[in-house]
Amino acid sequence: MNKKFDIIIAGAGPAGLSAAIYAARAEMNVAVLERSTPGGKVMKTAEVENYPGFNTILGPELGIKFFEQAMNLGANFIYAGLKSFKKENDTFIVTLENGEVIESKALIIATGSKENLIGVPGEVELYGKGVSYCAACDAAFHKGKEVVVVGGGYSAIEEAIFLTRFVNKVYLVHRRQEFRADKKSVDKAKANPKIEFILDSVVTKINGTNKVETVDVKSLITNDIKTIPVSAIFPFIGQTAESKFIEDEKLMNSDKNIIVNEKMETTVKGLWSAGDVRVTPFRQIATAVADGALAGQEAVKYLELLD
Ligand SMILES: Cc1cc2nc3c(=O)[nH]c(=O)nc-3n(C[C@H](O)[C@H](O)[C@H](O)COP(=O)(O)OP(=O)(O)OC[C@H]3O[C@@H](n4cnc5c(N)ncnc54)[C@H](O)[C@@H]3O)c2cc1C
Repeated sequence: MNKKFDIIIAGAGPAGLSAAIYAARAEMNVAVLERSTPGGKVMKTAEVENYPGFNTILGPELGIKFFEQAMNLGANFIYAGLKSFKKENDTFIVTLENGEVIESKALIIATGSKENLIGVPGEVELYGKGVSYCAACDAAFHKGKEVVVVGGGYSAIEEAIFLTRFVNKVYLVHRRQEFRADKKSVDKAKANPKIEFILDSVVTKINGTNKVETVDVKSLITNDIKTIPVSAIFPFIGQTAESKFIEDEKLMNSDKNIIVNEKMETTVKGLWSAGDVRVTPFRQIATAVADGALAGQEAVKYLELLD
């Protein structure tokens, strides 16, 4: 017989763990699925300076605190990924990547997202050591320095402008002349004396031993390669939602982020989504935690009415 839970939460990042805290505290029988390390992306973050309650805290320390709180309140952790799910009457039948099948009346998807990599040597090796996909998180660590931003969409432009509040100079590297951002934002970036546009160009290599030291940038017109000394590189070429296991396309937008209302509900009764995997204007720990709290609380209310 399949193991039965009141609520299954997929993903043990800040969103999933916050949902677990609310649901377990309401004495629900909760299963949290995690295919990697509990704590989510926070575990890969060096220092966090913008989560209320801590002036500075190491990412892994915060991730472990979230995890321990959920565990102490009685959430059950299953170390396997969610592979697929279907709803039969009012029950979710959830198949795990290890082949196990479990059931619940409510399901919360909090599986996060992955930043798209530019795919050059040094990017993976220097991740967290100057390679960053989050300006709001890491800009303050590069005060007075020079950095590279990669991309030509709205986030690359906006984040480049944001970074100029901290750094002395931003090199904005984009493979084309045209931008996918609105003209007003592009004009604002062009008028900013701290931003130098390097267009028709791509980053080919990120160099450094223990931290980013220089970045190689190749012109697609002349094929010349310039080496720019910088302390960080911020690729903003989009993110991919961890939602491959969702079969119903109508639940997602064109980027595969899950569509929810203000209560984190999807259009399927009993199914919620929270954190970076959902359609959201801001991907941060605080917003993920807030989403998780809402999803967890709403799932509890749903189950109380179902009984
Ligand atoms: C380098 C970096 C630094 C950052 N620094 C900060 C910062 O300083 N401050 C801040 O507020 N934000 C920061 N962020 C953003 C913040 O980490 C995220 O917004 C937040 O972690 C999102 O939480 P989440 O729970 O939605 O997703 P995640 O943290 O991504 O957690 C999702 C979890 O789901 C798991 N998972 C994925 N697929 C499955 C599956 N199929 N089945 C089961 N489990 C699955 C993953 O392994 C992961 O543990 C940073 C991000 C990065 C990349």
